[in-house]
Amino acid sequence: MTQSQTKTQSRSKKRTTPGEPSKAQKVYDRLRALHPDAHIELDFTTPLDLLVATILSAQCTDARVNIVTRELFRRARTPDDYLGLGTDQLEAIIQSAGFYRQKAKSILGTMRKIRDDFHGEIPRSMEELVQLPGVGRKTANVVLGNAFDTPGLPVDTHVTRLSLRLGLTQSEDPVTIEAELQQVLSPVDWTMFSHTLIFHGRRVCKARRPECARCNATDLCLYYQTAEDAVIADRKKARARTQHEGT
Ligand code: SF4
Repeated sequence: MTQSQTKTQSRSKKRTTPGEPSKAQKVYDRLRALHPDAHIELDFTTPLDLLVATILSAQCTDARVNIVTRELFRRARTPDDYLGLGTDQLEAIIQSAGFYRQKAKSILGTMRKIRDDFHGEIPRSMEELVQLPGVGRKTANVVLGNAFDTPGLPVDTHVTRLSLRLGLTQSEDPVTIEAELQQVLSPVDWTMFSHTLIFHGRRVCKARRPECARCNATDLCLYYQTAEDAVIADRKKARARTQHEGT
């Protein structure tokens, strides 16, 4: 293992003393101050709306989903309404959200299961929600945290990227990241933590080029600190070269 890898690992694994807020909590407090308006950006009125909107949001922007669901929610308010639309009509309505064939299949399969196995009501536990076709832990956590006021920590691409950059995890696996973050954050903060990281990821810590100059968590960020170390090392090398050439 190289010196910089050792340093990186020790930074990301740094333990807090008892009573001290976890690093994730510090990051959350900091980013919450930067994005006090963080919230779910999918439009919905009922838990069923949110479940459908979240299924539609895979590989699609929330803004596009909101355009699609404006029409969809006007036509479908219950599982039977969705089933009444059938595949062709549903696909036509959701086409612009992308992957519409698979999404229509998931939505109709989910509605059938809700009608047949859950008496027409969306189940309220993780174990039951993930039994619905096309519903994984991320979607289940979105529904639990935003529609049922039950602690849920959705880990999407933004939460994964930022957790890695900030050094809150060393894993790229969303299920592992979810479990790690749940251990160091209070359950009441889980859902808002996710919204806050998503806001930060969309507005500041962008995938291709993070805008660190606009970030208020640089001192907590592994990515930033590592980049800074590299700059300092380069400067030292350049200085040593200049001195050597001067002798
Ligand atoms: S310092 Fe840069 S890389 Fe780190 S969280 Fe902020 S924007 Fe992202």
